[in-house]
Amino acid sequence: MTDFIKQANTGVRTLAPYQPGKPIDELQRELGLTRVVKLASNENPLGPSPLALQAITTMLTNPLELARYPDGNGFVLKAAIAQRFKLSADQIVLGNGSNDVLELVARAFLSAGDEAIYAQHAFAVYPIATQAAGATGVCVPAKNFGHDLVAMAAAITERTKVIFLANPNNPTGTWFEADEFARFMQQVPSHIIVLLDEAYGEFVSDPDALDGLSVLSQYSNLVVSRTFAKAYGLASLRVGYAVASDVIINILNRVRQPFNVNSLALVAAAAALNDDDFVRRSRALNDKGHQQWQAYLVDLGLSALPSRGNFICVDFKQATAPIFDALLREGVIVRPVANYGLPNHLRISIGLTEENAFAAEAIKRVLAVIGAPR
Ligand SMILES: *Cc1c(COP(=O)(O)O)cnc(C)c1O
Repeated sequence: MTDFIKQANTGVRTLAPYQPGKPIDELQRELGLTRVVKLASNENPLGPSPLALQAITTMLTNPLELARYPDGNGFVLKAAIAQRFKLSADQIVLGNGSNDVLELVARAFLSAGDEAIYAQHAFAVYPIATQAAGATGVCVPAKNFGHDLVAMAAAITERTKVIFLANPNNPTGTWFEADEFARFMQQVPSHIIVLLDEAYGEFVSDPDALDGLSVLSQYSNLVVSRTFAKAYGLASLRVGYAVASDVIINILNRVRQPFNVNSLALVAAAAALNDDDFVRRSRALNDKGHQQWQAYLVDLGLSALPSRGNFICVDFKQATAPIFDALLREGVIVRPVANYGLPNHLRISIGLTEENAFAAEAIKRVLAVIGAPR
């Protein structure tokens, strides 16, 4: 029989698939548990934006809409994004999640022989998209678990076509400041695409924090991506977007699937975008959850990396695979990050107050059995 692995594209041959968080019903099936708390995928514990839910409900009163193709141009959602951020619609590309947008950038700009730079411990989709496009990933060692922008600029070669940055980063929660980014951009030749991934941007409350959209006009090579999956609570609908110059967006649209964002996602995202009250409540709950976890960590004798996301990356000072398994048996799903080069950490999404308490108590019981690191 044919060895089809040999038939696959060079980059694809050695690719490991993305490992998602374990679904709740899968754990319930496997272990017969009734109460399961999932803090594994940085989802919004408040659910979807109520305005988004209302928009979907309204759309479903005309079921014919589901039989029709979506607006492939996403006119209404792009108009809403353009208005909110004072952009023109041709500076926006919509994606089936912002994951889709990251892949559009890789597919449009990377091929064999090209290099893409990303940071150690950065979001897993950057190496996957790079390798799938046949290009070479250049992983730059982290500094204090975060992006070392000076080292990343120094890693640029003639072959560099794309640089992926996550701010804040997942799974570490680390961030860089606006002035560090400005110095970095001065070092980057203007033909190199810089993808600034702001999937968690809405959770950042510091008024001095870097805001990609506010500096976009300064850089012709900057692409800023955002998502409705995290703060807006629409992870299941798969919708995100990127903003850049109309020239770059035109190129991304050439490799985009014609109907990559579905109709329910389009109306929900357009409504969620201006649901400021919901985003405010989500951010407040997240801030409160960070404080709650801080107290739990002190009690547990553990520490987490500083995080501006809706999650914390906790250092257990020992291999976390057995801790992860024991937590599953307690009905708590968190995220192992050994595949990110962090075998002693677990990433825990900030949940509702009672979910955080449930998880912290489970960790306490598990550590009592497993013991302190040796
Ligand atoms: C979750 C996440 C995304 C993508 O989310 P989508 O659901 O595809 O929009 C992108 N970047 C980072 C850093 C993330 O954590």
